[in-house]
Amino acid sequence: MIRQYELVERVSSYDPATDEELLNRAYVFSMKAHGAQLRASGDPYFSHPIEVAGILTDYHLDCATIATALLHDTVEDTVATLDEIDDLFGSEVAKLVDGVTKLSKLELRSEANREAENFRKLLLAMSDDIRVLLVKLADRLHNMRTLRFLKKREKRQRIAIETMEIYAPLAERLGMRQIRDELETLAFAELNADAHDAINQRLKLLREDAGNMVERVTGELGQTLEEAGIEAEISGREKKAYSVWRKMERDRVEFEQLADITAFRIVVDTVPQCYQALGIVHGRYRTVPGRFRDYISTPKRNGYRSIHTTVIGPERQRTEVQIRTREMHEVAEFGVAAHWAYKQGQSTSAGPHYRWLQEPLEILEHAESPEEFLEHTKLAMFQDQVFCFTPKGEVIALPRGATPVDFAYAVHTQVGDSCVGAKINGRVVPLRTELANGNQVDILRSSTSHPDPSWESFVVTGRARAAIRRFIRNRERAEHIRLGRAIVEKVFRQSGHEITEEGVGHVCKVFKMKDEDELYHAVGIGQLTSRQVLHTAFPGERPWSGRGAIGAINRVLPARWRTSADKGNGHAVPIKGLIPGMAVHHAPCCHPIPGDRIVGIVTRGKGVMIHTIDCASLEQFTEEDERWLDVKWDVEAGEEGLHVGRIRALVVNEPGGLSALSSVIAKNRGNISNLRFTNRGAHFFEMTVDIEVEDVKHLTDIITALRASPQINDVDRIRG
Ligand code: MN
Repeated sequence: MIRQYELVERVSSYDPATDEELLNRAYVFSMKAHGAQLRASGDPYFSHPIEVAGILTDYHLDCATIATALLHDTVEDTVATLDEIDDLFGSEVAKLVDGVTKLSKLELRSEANREAENFRKLLLAMSDDIRVLLVKLADRLHNMRTLRFLKKREKRQRIAIETMEIYAPLAERLGMRQIRDELETLAFAELNADAHDAINQRLKLLREDAGNMVERVTGELGQTLEEAGIEAEISGREKKAYSVWRKMERDRVEFEQLADITAFRIVVDTVPQCYQALGIVHGRYRTVPGRFRDYISTPKRNGYRSIHTTVIGPERQRTEVQIRTREMHEVAEFGVAAHWAYKQGQSTSAGPHYRWLQEPLEILEHAESPEEFLEHTKLAMFQDQVFCFTPKGEVIALPRGATPVDFAYAVHTQVGDSCVGAKINGRVVPLRTELANGNQVDILRSSTSHPDPSWESFVVTGRARAAIRRFIRNRERAEHIRLGRAIVEKVFRQSGHEITEEGVGHVCKVFKMKDEDELYHAVGIGQLTSRQVLHTAFPGERPWSGRGAIGAINRVLPARWRTSADKGNGHAVPIKGLIPGMAVHHAPCCHPIPGDRIVGIVTRGKGVMIHTIDCASLEQFTEEDERWLDVKWDVEAGEEGLHVGRIRALVVNEPGGLSALSSVIAKNRGNISNLRFTNRGAHFFEMTVDIEVEDVKHLTDIITALRASPQINDVDRIRG
């Protein structure tokens, strides 16, 4: 275990501005907070945060990060609170600790790779400071180093899988190759112990066979370069068991065929020297075709720069050689963490690093400028996305602003189409709720349900919008066909004709309609009139026009209603409860609600508008007989949703007047959807109130109850 003064010394060795007092306090605070807690290894728990801090000193991270490492488990695992951390160590450290705590609560619950990618993005999206991620990686590294002490195999496996799928690739993306290698090695040993041991065994045999091959080749390469006047640092290393294994898997080769299990690295001062060294190596040894990669002129997306080549080396063995400058080497080993080292004035060559930082930002699909990144050291990547879990732990990526409806459609079109509600983290929420990172979303479904056209106003994904529109289009078309058929049937019946297949076929031909559905659709949307259809089927026939000269509208309309009522309302078109965007609309002038006597007016291109039979606006249609349609409420279909009835109320202008009104309405299960003052006097004020009700009876009940209330002087339903 690293001792207090050792840790402080390490930090001050690379950071002259070390806040020693802060580190000392964090060390003591953490030790006290963790108290007698023990790790699975039997060590005091406190050894863990210290080791994590120690790992981060290798990366020359700043004081706030080291203090965070010391404190990173105190909020989650001890009685310490974030407020306390804030008081004692300041807001910067508190924010970092909070970030690490949040990340620790996320857990990969699925093994599928597709989701692993989204999970990595989720971690990135939640770390708004990259130092949070660095502490998390160091934390994971130490946990992996001590993984073997965990007794439960299942738990070890879960952690190892998570490491392999999430944390090792994250380290890779951040350019932290050392951490990635070690994480992979440790996870591989847990997940595939047999293969791990077998490969190590073989590597050992090979090593014994070749004697001190690494040393000899290093010596020969060094001499060759020296003769050419290039000063270089040369090192050789054996490939790690996991990378050998991956290679065997990927290239489907046997161990014996893996010739280049050792790699040599030539580190020089300048870029021209890299190419010079390359020329010398290629001049001296035979190259293996197809193995040359120049990541100096074309860096890897994580900023990695180096030249790779494979030659038949001094020992007549395939040998990989990497050539790079010292600076490239440091970046390759330390990745994004190198930024802090340079920020602290260790080097004046901030330029290349600055450029290098752009690269990971690009991989991480970050759109903002890198300058901003440098300035705030913020990880603003994926700020335009949000990542949520399905109940099974699958991670779904959505654009920011997405709602449970978008989520449902992202899972499956059928899930979206049958969505009736949603739970976020176990709580029922409105469907328009904006999702946040890490939310677990549970979609409530009903097989009899269908998309609500109003969803279109809040969904943000194209997929959801397209599905909702497609649904509306289909529903609307079916509705238009139904209406068109009813309209044609009416005019035929009124003129005493039967609709026959031949007749309809003839009409279709004349109007170049594919089939009767298309014909009825044309009538339903008002493109064709029923009169045109009748005339085509029976040339010379006049459509029935029983109205003749129409007198005062108020007198005629109830009579008209009676006409159809007398016939038992036999050809009235049943109207279901209102679905916005459908072919049938409730007129905004008279607010018809189930139970009202109603009439339909066919409007051009918009289907049918339903008015109450005494609506004043009907007057304008008196001369257009063919547009009238007898309609009735479809009682059997049941009512879908509520209807808005409008009333006018005269309320006493005294304390409690308004509350009397609203409580009477609420008591009678009515919901006020709008309220407007129309007149305000000294003793009374007049208002219009829109109330969601089930039907006319419901509204009448409410009106009666209001009339009974002493604070309410007068109540009427408003129409037109
Ligand atoms: Mn930890």
